[in-house]
Amino acid sequence: MRITALTGGIGGARFLRGLREHLRTRADTWAGADITVIGNTADDITLFGLRVCPDLDTVMYTLGGGIHDEQGWGRADETFNVSTELAAYEVPPDWFTLGDRDIATHIVRTQMLRAGWSLTDVTAALCTRWQPGVRLLPMSDDPVETHVVVLDDSGAREALHFQEWWVREQAKRTAQEFVYLGAAEAKPTATVLDALRDSDVVLLPPSNPVVSIGAILQIAGIGDALRSTAAPVVGVSPIIGDAPVRGMADACLSAIGVGTSAAAVAGHYGARIAGGLLDGWLVAEEDASTSAPAGVIQRSRPLLMTAIEDAAAIAGAALDLAIELRR
Ligand code: GDP
Ligand code: CA
Repeated sequence: MRITALTGGIGGARFLRGLREHLRTRADTWAGADITVIGNTADDITLFGLRVCPDLDTVMYTLGGGIHDEQGWGRADETFNVSTELAAYEVPPDWFTLGDRDIATHIVRTQMLRAGWSLTDVTAALCTRWQPGVRLLPMSDDPVETHVVVLDDSGAREALHFQEWWVREQAKRTAQEFVYLGAAEAKPTATVLDALRDSDVVLLPPSNPVVSIGAILQIAGIGDALRSTAAPVVGVSPIIGDAPVRGMADACLSAIGVGTSAAAVAGHYGARIAGGLLDGWLVAEEDASTSAPAGVIQRSRPLLMTAIEDAAAIAGAALDLAIELRR
């Protein structure tokens, strides 16, 4: 059986680690199912000449056992000698944390990209070391960068790289708009489109609906592939009650006029029978009384991914809902 999931960084990575764990315990035809992961690359940024792919790396490190678990991103047992030296030279930027171990990943990636490898092949090569147990694919081999339009002190529009807004400014200035530079020209790879078409189930983990899942959907062809796949599409809400579980997804949702609630996100994704993306939707137990759009089957479960077992239970529930929808 084949499972395909779209993902951002921390929310998606924790869900996928749970999914892999869940599949180990399954005794039916889903035991040993292949997992293909389509990762957001619109958060990518070039720093000190190095190409950094935060979401792909978060998934790779989380599933490969190298993640700093409490933090949710970056490497465990990290040191910061290179960053300290760069600061001593007063070479900016100083707001994006790059640990020594992490930098090695970016050096390998940058070197291979410069030698002409595609990001898909570079990612596969990095994964030979990490053995994440999933096939990790970038959404596209073409560069896409999310930029955020904010207002400066005089009220004029100013565009920042997503990471400048998210990490440096902690999303303090209200986002007016998200612009996905390069997305209109970027092509999905054949591998990505095949994975969506040939899948038995497609999962949308609890990733940021705007700058993670939303960015992936900016690539022409990926949305269509999701809408037309024969596989049921099941999403998991990243919002519990009226707040994101981690991070500032509310600042992204309000910029596109979507409320911060499980129901509003489901409404934004829409029902597949009405040209949207979802057949099934998992919400937290406290959101059980809210409703998804007509045509979307909703179930409620505890959705907090604290331990791996919690994420495994959520992934199991998403898979069970998908199996129910296949019938
Ligand atoms: P990012 O790229 O690192 O921001 O990660 P993602 O886009 O994959 O995930 C961010 C989203 O994950 C946020 O909107 C969070 O609300 C959501 N999230 C994080 N932890 C949990 C959790 O334990 N449960 C649920 N349901 N969502 C979570
Ligand atoms: Ca991200």
